Amino acid sequence: MNIKELFTMKRTERVFPVLNVLTFAGVIFALTLGAAWYWWALSFIVYALTMGFGVSATYHRLLAHKSYSTNRFLRNLGIFFGGIGGTGSAFAWVAVHRTHHRFSDKPGDPHDARVIPIWRQVTLAYGFDWKKFTVRDLASDKFVIFQHEWYFLILIAWAALLLAISPMLFLFGFIVPVWFQIWATSSSLILEHKFGYRSYETNDKAMNNWFNALTVWGEGWHNNHHHNPRNAKFGEKWWEVDLGYLFVKLVRH
Ligand SMILES: [Zn+2]
Ligand SMILES: [Zn+2]
Repeated sequence: MNIKELFTMKRTERVFPVLNVLTFAGVIFALTLGAAWYWWALSFIVYALTMGFGVSATYHRLLAHKSYSTNRFLRNLGIFFGGIGGTGSAFAWVAVHRTHHRFSDKPGDPHDARVIPIWRQVTLAYGFDWKKFTVRDLASDKFVIFQHEWYFLILIAWAALLLAISPMLFLFGFIVPVWFQIWATSSSLILEHKFGYRSYETNDKAMNNWFNALTVWGEGWHNNHHHNPRNAKFGEKWWEVDLGYLFVKLVRH
């Protein structure tokens, strides 16, 4: 099976709605347990690693835009964490995101906030018919391609490992953060181009939105980001808190 087949995967269209429903049921169940605070703290820490370190610092700022550099171990660790957050492989993410920058708010934008409803954002984005030339630099990267080709298998193996260690670890270390990541990502793909304020007159509708910046680790300072995609720091004013940048500061060389 070739890589393109895997990425345009009809599979994604099937897997994401199932993951969405299962993790939602898991969150409702978790809420009924009256679990100790540290289980919720665990969910938060996992979400910091998957979305903050994984997707925001590594997938987005490092791989998609090359806005800083780090060593191979930390880069691959970030790719691993980005993957177990449940919203796709680094290869897919970078392809979709670079295409988004190219066609923002125009036909060809893979998560066009004007036409795609929130509940289909993640599913559609990753099932998008991407163009291979957008990720030529990653096509020969063995680690990135391995994660991409075996994405759902890695996700299932990781979940099974946590479940084998402890059902509570599985629930609060996987189900809860994955559910949150799916919805935080879906809502951010809408908010980033629809609601908020603009510091720069970019030739798209990118917005800065504080709520979005909090839920997705600084990604919500999206108008700043479209204005200068190579800047690793998305928050510019003192009150534009960019928690994802803290991970960049920790791992950059
Ligand atoms: Zn955008
Ligand atoms: Zn970007």
